[in-house]
Amino acid sequence: MPHSTTPPPLELDGLAAVVTGGASGIGLATARLLARRGARVAVLDLDPDALPAPDQGALLPVRCDVTDDTSVRTAVAEAVGRLGALDILVNNAGIGAQGTVTDNDDAEWHRVLDVNVVGIVRTTRAALPRLRESRHSAVVNTCSVAATAGLPQRVLYSASKGAVLSLTLAMAADHVREGIRVNCVNPGTADTPWIDRLLSRADDPAAERTALNARQPTGRLVSAEEVAAAIAYLASPAAASVTGTALAVDGGMQGLRLRPGNG
Ligand code: NAD
Repeated sequence: MPHSTTPPPLELDGLAAVVTGGASGIGLATARLLARRGARVAVLDLDPDALPAPDQGALLPVRCDVTDDTSVRTAVAEAVGRLGALDILVNNAGIGAQGTVTDNDDAEWHRVLDVNVVGIVRTTRAALPRLRESRHSAVVNTCSVAATAGLPQRVLYSASKGAVLSLTLAMAADHVREGIRVNCVNPGTADTPWIDRLLSRADDPAAERTALNARQPTGRLVSAEEVAAAIAYLASPAAASVTGTALAVDGGMQGLRLRPGNG
């Protein structure tokens, strides 16, 4: 059989994607992977200058604060204008919070919910008219194992991610008949700059990292690339029948119950 000289099309050829919080960690790994699979990708971030120089050619950096509706609408319009369309929206921007229910005041509750929950509402609202025009439209939200497991000292963060899980399901129901799929990924503790910052504040960073590794049944943190692979799957036409799901990428943290030791 003669060999074709044209390479086979990449999985995401011809598709355009926006990734919020795409200048760091899971968002950056996702933006890189979507681009490698053929998509044109805009990175919407509070700090787009943080995008590493080698990525500036392949990814389009756009300044965006997901807590500001005008900023979001302007950034989405700029991204769509430059990319020419919008097929994939990855709502990934998020911030952490620590403490019990007594440790954060009202202002901090509003601040975290504003980024992690209402931020997704703002970007999706701005993107929907263009997503409706796509033949392969998908929204993927970055949720967390904190939405489904009770973790100590994470009440505010967990409440925000519980809301992300619920709004993912409700949005999936609202938009399925428009051909828009909505799913989320639930990472366990992922090795990103976020965790580096968390560890740098710990009394004993090395001991804290060992404890976080041990909490994962796989014995190690999840990598940003592993979460990105799950997001890329949910965003791709290969997942055309997948909507309203939460895909755990958590080293077994949610689903497994191991006995101590090797037994
Ligand atoms: P990260 O801190 O490395 O990256 C987050 C990015 O979001 C940064 O580039 C930051 O500038 C951007 N951002 C923050 N606030 C923003 C705003 N208001 N507007 C626009 N951009 C903003 O964090 P990460 O670990 O890659 O986390 C990404 C997502 O993954 C978050 O939603 C987080 O809740 C979730 N997550 C992380 C972990 C983990 O262990 N790292 C686990 C589960 C879920």
